[in-house]
Order: sequence, then structure tokens, then C-alpha cells
Amino acid sequence: MTLFEKIVAREIPADILHEDDVCIAFRDISPQAPVHFLVVPKKPIPRVAEAEFVDQATLGHLLLTAGKVATAEGVNTADGGFRVVINNGADGGETVPHLHVHVLGGRPLKWPPG
Ligand code: 5GP
Repeated sequence: MTLFEKIVAREIPADILHEDDVCIAFRDISPQAPVHFLVVPKKPIPRVAEAEFVDQATLGHLLLTAGKVATAEGVNTADGGFRVVINNGADGGETVPHLHVHVLGGRPLKWPPG
């Protein structure tokens, strides 16, 4: 079982912002911005490069949920905004091998990322 499957199963506590049949969203334990949450499919797809076409609806669901929870968290404003990030592999910064969409907001974010 992956770390994030354990959060879905309530074996590890998390500050859950949203849950439905396909995904769960919860605050990152080590926030890099005032708003930083993860949107995670319940299906343990390891990373985006391992997703298959059968996962197409799930991948879309993650982005739609990211936007809706960002709005609920107050970062989808005219003068604000947020960033959506998916890390893939060691050079991408992936540390948990269960696909997750980071949503960061609440402060100006630099580009390019480090
Ligand atoms: P990655 O580096 O794989 O893109 O992102 C993994 C993220 O999961 C990191 O931002 C890290 O802080 C977060 N994380 C790791 N363990 C836990 C945990 O037990 N609970 C929560 N809520 N987040 C976690």
C-alpha cells in the first residue's frame, strides 16, 4: 500500500479538503506556500508517465478537482492565482510513487522553478 493509499484508508491522518469516488485532496504536510494541497487518485497510478489511456478520465478529474478546491481555498481570485505541479521521477522531484497533483498558491511564485 502506498503512503497516499494509507491516507485514503485513514491509516495515516491528513487534513482532507475533498474526497469523491475517484480522488482525495489534502493539505501537504510540508507546505511550500500558504495554500499547498495535493490531489491524489484513489487508483495508485505511480506517476504520470505510467498512466494509460484507460486513466484519461481520472487524469482530467484530478485537474478539475484541483481547480475547484483551489477556488474553495480562496486562491482563484482576479489578482491572485495558483500553480499546478506534477513531479515525475527523481529529476522532477518526485518522492512519493503515487501520482499526485500539487496545488500551490497564496503568494507570488517564481518562474522557472529551481
Ligand atoms: P513529490 O515530492 O513526490 O512531488 O510530493 C510528495 C509530497 O507529499 C511532498 O510535498 C510531501 O511534503 C508530501 N507528503 C509526504 N508525506 C506526507 C504525509 O504523510 N502527509 C501529507 N499530508 N503529505 C505528505
